[in-house]
Amino acid sequence: MPVPTDAFVDHLRSLLDDRAILTGTDALDRTADPRGVLSREPVVVVRPADVVGVAATVAACAEAGVAIVPQGGNTGLSYGTHLPADRPAILLSVSRLNRIESVDPDRWTITAQAGVSIQAIQEAASSVGRKFAPDWGARGTATVGGGISTDAGGTNVVRYGNMRDNVMGIEAVLADGRVWDGRRSLRKDSSGYDLKHLFIGGEGTLGVVTSAVLKLVPATPYETSTLAAITGLDDLMPLLELGEQHAPGAISGFELIPDMAMDRLTEVLGIPRFIDAGTEYCVLVRLASSEPVDDMIAGFLKAGVEAGHIVDAVVAGTADQEATLWVMRDEITPMTLWTEHQHLGLKLDTAVPIDQIAEFVRQISARSAEIAPGALCYGFGHVGDGNIHMMILPTSDEAIEPWLAAKPAMEAAIDETVFGLHGTLSAEHGVGLLLRDRIGPQKQELEWEMMRCIKRALDPENLFNPGKLIPDPEV
Ligand SMILES: Cc1cc2nc3c(=O)[nH]c(=O)nc-3n(C[C@H](O)[C@H](O)[C@H](O)COP(=O)(O)OP(=O)(O)OC[C@H]3O[C@@H](n4cnc5c(N)ncnc54)[C@H](O)[C@@H]3O)c2cc1C
Repeated sequence: MPVPTDAFVDHLRSLLDDRAILTGTDALDRTADPRGVLSREPVVVVRPADVVGVAATVAACAEAGVAIVPQGGNTGLSYGTHLPADRPAILLSVSRLNRIESVDPDRWTITAQAGVSIQAIQEAASSVGRKFAPDWGARGTATVGGGISTDAGGTNVVRYGNMRDNVMGIEAVLADGRVWDGRRSLRKDSSGYDLKHLFIGGEGTLGVVTSAVLKLVPATPYETSTLAAITGLDDLMPLLELGEQHAPGAISGFELIPDMAMDRLTEVLGIPRFIDAGTEYCVLVRLASSEPVDDMIAGFLKAGVEAGHIVDAVVAGTADQEATLWVMRDEITPMTLWTEHQHLGLKLDTAVPIDQIAEFVRQISARSAEIAPGALCYGFGHVGDGNIHMMILPTSDEAIEPWLAAKPAMEAAIDETVFGLHGTLSAEHGVGLLLRDRIGPQKQELEWEMMRCIKRALDPENLFNPGKLIPDPEV
C-alpha cells in the first residue's frame, strides 16, 4: 500500500503538534483487524488534537492528492478503515478529539467530539439522570464518529432506533478543509435538506465527523430481562406483539439466542447455563422503564406460555444476573466462541423485514446444509428489528478444505436469499470494503447513481475513504 512521501509527512508535522503523527510500529498498532483476517500494512496515522488540526490535515491532503481514511475506535467489522491499495493515503484518527463538550439535561442532549467512546457518552448521560440509548458490545472502544459513520445499531434499536435516530446535529470537515458546523439541537426543523443524514452511515466517504449533538432519552432505572425458551422461530413475531401488549413501549431488547451457543458459552467462558429446555432457540427480552417491570414481565411470560410460544423461562433476579445475561449475548460471536476458525467463516449482518426472519433463517440453514454440510450454521441477534447475524464456519481443521471450496457458492446463495426477501447485507456494520461488491442488487441502479452524484459533489477528488461503500465507484 503506497504511503505518503516523507516530505508530505514532514509538512503535516509542521502543521500539527508533535504528538499528532504516528509511523512505524506505533502506527501499525492502530490497524489491527477486529476479525483477525487482514494483515497489517505500513501506514501513517495522523491524530490532530482539534477540529482546526483536522481541517489543516484535510486541506494539506487535498492539495497533495493524498487520500484520507477516517478512523475512530477501529472496531468496525466491514473493513471501512482499510487503506486504498492504489494511491497514497493517511489514516486520520479522531482519537484525540475526545472531549465531551457539554451535557445539557434540560435540552436532552450531549455534545461530544467524535473520538469520545459510546460508553463515555452513556455514563455522562446517566450521571444527569438521562440515557443515551445506542448500545453494543464494542461500546468501550467504538466512538461517536464511528457509530455515526456506520449508523451503528445494537441491542436497543427495537425501541430507540439506530444512531441515525439518536443524532441531532453534526460538525464535519469537508473535502476542501472547510468546517461545517451543523450542530443544532432542534427537535423540529423543516428548513430544507437534512444534510447530517448524508454523513450518518456515510462511512467517512464525504468528510470527517468531528463533533455531534446526541439525543438523550429518559433514564430507565428498572431494567430486567427474561430468557425464554421458545417453540420455534415462528413464535418470534407473535411474542414481540405479546410483549408490546403486556409491556407497551417497555421492550428495549429482543434478541435471538441459539441453544447450542449456550453450551459453548459455558465451555469457553464458564457462563452458567440459565435454561435447558431442549428447544433450538431462546429469546432474550429486556424490559426497561422508570417503574418496576416485574408485573409486566410476568404478564408477558404467562401470555407467551398460554399461547404455546414459550416452554420455559428464567427472569434475572439480581443486577449480576441481569448483567451476565447480556454478557452472554455480547459474547455469542464466533470471535469469542470459535477463535481458531472464526476468520475463515461468513458472519452476516443481514436484515430482512421483521415478518421474514423465520423464513430467512430457514432458507439460509437449508442452503448451508446443502452447500456446506460440514460447516456450523447458527443465527443470533437483534430479531426485534429484523437484523439477524447468521454465522457459517468450519469448526475443525478437517472441515476447512471443503468449507473453503463451498464458500463462494454459499456467499452467492446468501445474496440471492437476502435480496429475494427484500433485505440488506448491511444492517448496522456498514458496507466498507467487505460488502461493496455484493451490495449492488439491493438497490435500484438509479439509487446508487444518486449516491455517486452526492459523492462527486461533496468530494470531487475522491479524497475521503476511496473505494468504500459505493459499488462501481468509477461508473
Ligand atoms: C465485539 C464487537 C461487537 C459489535 N457489535 C455491534 C453491534 O451490535 N451493532 C453495531 O452496529 N456494530 C457493532 N460492532 C461494530 C462496530 O463497533 C461499529 O461499526 C462502530 O460503529 C464502529 O465504530 P469505530 O469508532 O470503531 O469506527 P471505526 O471502526 O474506526 O470506523 C468505522 C467506519 O467509520 C468511518 N469513521 C470512523 N470515524 C469517523 C469519523 N469521525 N468521521 C468520518 N468517518 C469515520 C471509518 O472510515 C469506517 O468507514 C461491533 C464490533 C465489535 C468488535
